[in-house]
Formats: sequence, structure tokens, C-alpha cells
Amino acid sequence: MKMEIFAENPRGDDAVPSTTAVSVALTLGERVLNRQMQRPQAPDSGEYSSAPTRRRFLIAAGTGVSVTAAEIWLAASRVVPDDAMPAVDPDNPRNLKQYDPVYERAVRGLEAPLGFEDCARPVARANRGTAGRDRHAVAPVIDRFIIHHTGTTADQLDFLSRCNRRSSAPTFYLRHDGSVIELIRPGAKPSSTGADWNWRSVAVETLNETDAPEYAVTTAQMEELAQMVAWLATFDGKSLDGVPVSFAIDRDHVISHQETWSGTECPGPYLQSRLDDIVARAQQIFEENPSPRG
Ligand SMILES: [Zn+2]
Repeated sequence: MKMEIFAENPRGDDAVPSTTAVSVALTLGERVLNRQMQRPQAPDSGEYSSAPTRRRFLIAAGTGVSVTAAEIWLAASRVVPDDAMPAVDPDNPRNLKQYDPVYERAVRGLEAPLGFEDCARPVARANRGTAGRDRHAVAPVIDRFIIHHTGTTADQLDFLSRCNRRSSAPTFYLRHDGSVIELIRPGAKPSSTGADWNWRSVAVETLNETDAPEYAVTTAQMEELAQMVAWLATFDGKSLDGVPVSFAIDRDHVISHQETWSGTECPGPYLQSRLDDIVARAQQIFEENPSPRG
């Protein structure tokens, strides 16, 4: 995992879910577990084990069922602040502002506070008109579809929905079931692949189904990657979300993270070995429907 963190973030503007996300997921998991465990344990937990409380409980228990129930209710009510957490929308865990996604197959468009010049002060969007660490001016274009993996199997939407420490901002986040969340608009510059590539690319983070060494993904994810590629190709010679597109469905235009920088293993052996298959499937989809949809 540490190798992957380093490998995925050589330049600061590149990013991928890392141990932070894992620890967040663990923390959330622990909280859920604790909450589940608190209810049955509450009367016996440390919080409720003071002598007076225990004595009251024993007295109550001896005086009748209804009082005992009241005591249990009182005990239970003490954990209400924790239980009162609002339900979390798994497709929008940070309750971000939503919009109709530009990619019509996406289930949501979320205004993630990412893809900005400074994600801690999300005022100015990172600009497709500059490239490289020296931020030299370029003519904006989208001519690459760049495939990444998360390097972990735990859902990363929460991590990708906040101003994460590496300002990871892929265009799309692709889950095991093939569902896509559009995290930033396709016209906005992602922050995924490095300063020499972000300005010209649409980037997808693919949640792994298995961990190292294979880092496999699901059949549904493979299909959706091909769908995204075919969709992007329908904009060739036109503009997508305000940005000119020059894109063909081939291995020059559909690339992986490690093909832009040899220092990363992203997107892992499985996806890397299937890039030709993704291109072939995308060509098939495109031939069936070469016009922009939506
Ligand atoms: Zn990557």
C-alpha cells in the first residue's frame, strides 16, 4: 500500500485513495460496529457501571417490569446523540451539491470540492489551459482517456468527495457494479495522472475487486470502461462540456496511468492486461451508436 501511495502521487497534484481512505473506512466501520454494540451493552458498559446507576437499575428491576423498562429506556436514551446521526446516502456520503451528470450513464454528478487550484480553498477550478509543473499555457483539448485503479477494494466515494489530502479528483469513479459517479464535470481538469497529463485527459478511478497482486476488477466495470471510451469518442471533432475533443478508440488514446509514468503500478496487472479488450469492446459499442447521446 505504501508503495502505491508513493507511486500514485509523485507530483503532489496526483492522487489516489490511500491509507487515509482506508483508515477513514476503518474508523467508520468501527463507529458502526460500536454503535451496534452499544445498545445491548449499554447497561453493563463502563458508562453505566457507576455504583448508583447499577443500584438504581437493580432496584428498578426489583420493583416491576414497567419501571425496568423505563430504566432501560433511560439507559438507551443516553446513546441517542450517537444514534441520531443522519442516514448517509451511499451515493453522496458528504451530502455534496448534485447536478445532472454530463455522462448520462453516471448515476450522479457531485460537486466534489476537488479539481481546484487549492482544494482547501475551492475558489478557482484547475484550468485545462495550463500544463506541467511550470503551468505553461496550452490549448485545451481532451485527447486521452486514462484508466486508474484505487489500489483498494473498500469503497472510496467518501474519500473522493472531500478535500482529501492529495486533492485526488478523477472525472469518474467506477464501482464494482459498474455504476459511475461523476465527481467533477468532464470539462474540468482532473487531478489524477500528473501535471503533464491532467490537462488533456478524462480520468477514471476503478475500484478494485481484489487486492494485490492482481488488482482485478469486475466484468461490469470492464463493460462500463468500454462504454465510457465509446461515449468519449462520440465527441471527437466536437466539444465536450466546453472543451474540444480529439479522440479515437485506440491504444494511443486509451491509456493507463503507468503508461504515462513508469513509476506506478496503477492500474494493476489485471486492467493493464485488459486494455486491448476494453478498446475492442468500445469500438464495438461505438459502431452500434456513433452519435453523442444525451
Ligand atoms: Zn493511477
